[in-house]
Amino acid sequence: MSSPKVGFVSLGCPKALVDSERILTQLRIEGYEVAADYSGADLVVVNTCGFIESAVQESLDAIGEAISENGKVIVTGCLGKDEAKIRSMHPSVLKVTGPQAYQDVMNAVHEYVPQPPEHNPYLDLVPPQGIRLTPKHYAYLKISEGCNHRCTFCIIPSLRGDLVSRPIGNVMEEAQNLVNAGVKEILVISQDTSAYGVDLKYKLDFWNGQPLKSKFIDLCAALGQMGVWVRLHYVYPYPHVDAVIDLMAEGKILPYLDIPFQHASPRILQLMKRPAHSENTLERLAVWRSKCPDIVIRSTFVVGFPGETEEDFEYLLNWLKEARLDRVGCFTYSPVEGAVANDLPDHVPVDVQQSRYERFMEAQQIISAQKLQERIGRTLTVLIDEFDLEHSVAIARSYADAPEIDGHVYIEDLTTEDLSRLKSGDKVTVTITDADEYDLYANLVTTN
Ligand code: SF4
Repeated sequence: MSSPKVGFVSLGCPKALVDSERILTQLRIEGYEVAADYSGADLVVVNTCGFIESAVQESLDAIGEAISENGKVIVTGCLGKDEAKIRSMHPSVLKVTGPQAYQDVMNAVHEYVPQPPEHNPYLDLVPPQGIRLTPKHYAYLKISEGCNHRCTFCIIPSLRGDLVSRPIGNVMEEAQNLVNAGVKEILVISQDTSAYGVDLKYKLDFWNGQPLKSKFIDLCAALGQMGVWVRLHYVYPYPHVDAVIDLMAEGKILPYLDIPFQHASPRILQLMKRPAHSENTLERLAVWRSKCPDIVIRSTFVVGFPGETEEDFEYLLNWLKEARLDRVGCFTYSPVEGAVANDLPDHVPVDVQQSRYERFMEAQQIISAQKLQERIGRTLTVLIDEFDLEHSVAIARSYADAPEIDGHVYIEDLTTEDLSRLKSGDKVTVTITDADEYDLYANLVTTN
């Protein structure tokens, strides 16, 4: 008898991607196959995103497509919190569950597509690193769920609850499995990475017989011993983050920090109720750079938040010019259903938001371009993601570039021999020859 097949649609952020990987791993452990298309599936699971309006619409469209192509659909993920909205548009969905509801999803799958009775989980091989949706050489490592903050523009705590950290032994075991499976780069993610372990009161745990505290710095140090790139996302500039910069300066983890500053004006940060809003971040950045001159800082910002005056915006622009961050994303504020900020007074008109966005991006593009120009002539280690065979180019990333969100390093003029020898996931040494606003261009020096 052939195994029942489950189709899977995964939308949303890297945290949702990790949820998808967990469900897919469990499906495979239980003997289900993952269908490559709707028509070959006995049922389809759609993992949704509910963060902003466009993500909600994309999720609703994906549910609609799965219903019309297959008919049997289970919905999970962040949008699952709003079952009424889903059912009002798609009354025929079989089951709706919220985020991280792995067991509820599995129960629903069992109800509609029974598990193959002869399946033996000890004989059917599921790789110990589970099923991953990212390319083989990098993987996201989710260290906690939820968030203890209550930023006024965000509904994640109401969707995902308060911070729940995974014990460090458990996180390290997953990291070790990933490395054993050939992963060369681990991307540490959560809603608030620097708060890791606060909820566990930094409980002592064990990994490889070694006692370790479930604490941000201890986790970074332990991951830094694994011999792969370790990249930190969603870190807030709390004072205790300073200790991690030492690990970066020592080459243990990548000198890269993704800090979602969101704004710089103290008044707006307070209205946003941002964590670490009272820290003097410019001073902190200067200290970090003196300890680790190569450090790359990526961040995201929101312009046109309710109550933002021209003065607040100018403050942000001046801060940006002084901070000289390497990688920056910017969004105009858009209300999210259920967010506290919707009720704040003085919403900024759309045309003003748009013009501030353009002014912000213009200022940042100059900084980013200058920073990339400074890299010309340097020799860097890069990780190859893929190839453009037609143009004899390898598309790679350096320590300064996270996958999906940052730029690339294009290794040009590769010979036929280089192209036949090199593969995705290889680390090679290159010399940077040119730069534009977002990307670098390089020549191959050696394969490491
Ligand atoms: S830190 Fe703020 S923006 Fe981030 S998840 Fe928590 S509440 Fe949302």
